[in-house]
Amino acid sequence: MIQNSIYKEISRNYERLRMDAENDRLSRQEEVYEKVPAIRGIDDETAKTGIKMAKAVINKEKTSEEAAAEAKARIDALKAEKQRLLAENGYAPDYLETKYTCGKCKDTGYIDGKKCGCFSQMLLNAVHEKSGLGAAADNVSLADFDLSLYSDKPYGNELKTT
Ligand SMILES: [Zn+2]
Repeated sequence: MIQNSIYKEISRNYERLRMDAENDRLSRQEEVYEKVPAIRGIDDETAKTGIKMAKAVINKEKTSEEAAAEAKARIDALKAEKQRLLAENGYAPDYLETKYTCGKCKDTGYIDGKKCGCFSQMLLNAVHEKSGLGAAADNVSLADFDLSLYSDKPYGNELKTT
């Protein structure tokens, strides 16, 4: 069914955008790690903080509330230090953040389970890219597609970030 394959195409396109954004972030990160090794140390420390706190809770050295508060304070301090180092080395504060094509939905096409504004453009692109439609694709408009046929649920392969 053509609508299904277009839906898959859209999903793949979003996936590609997210991968590009992530690769782009990683290359900026490598560059910064090279220039400011202390920032790599801060990232490692940040990653370890959660694990350390979880262990403290499991070993009953701390309540989960204590651990959560402590982890937050530690991570906030690490973040501040990272920002300081970035500024000191002439980097913008958001230099290490992922730069999505659509910052609103982070290139997923969905915001809180609802289609993002960029979805219709993606749909049009997918319709045009789809081989087999040929010249007819130029005459295909959004009106030819019943958006209600698409699930309002995200693709289901998203990592939950809460
Ligand atoms: Zn969007």
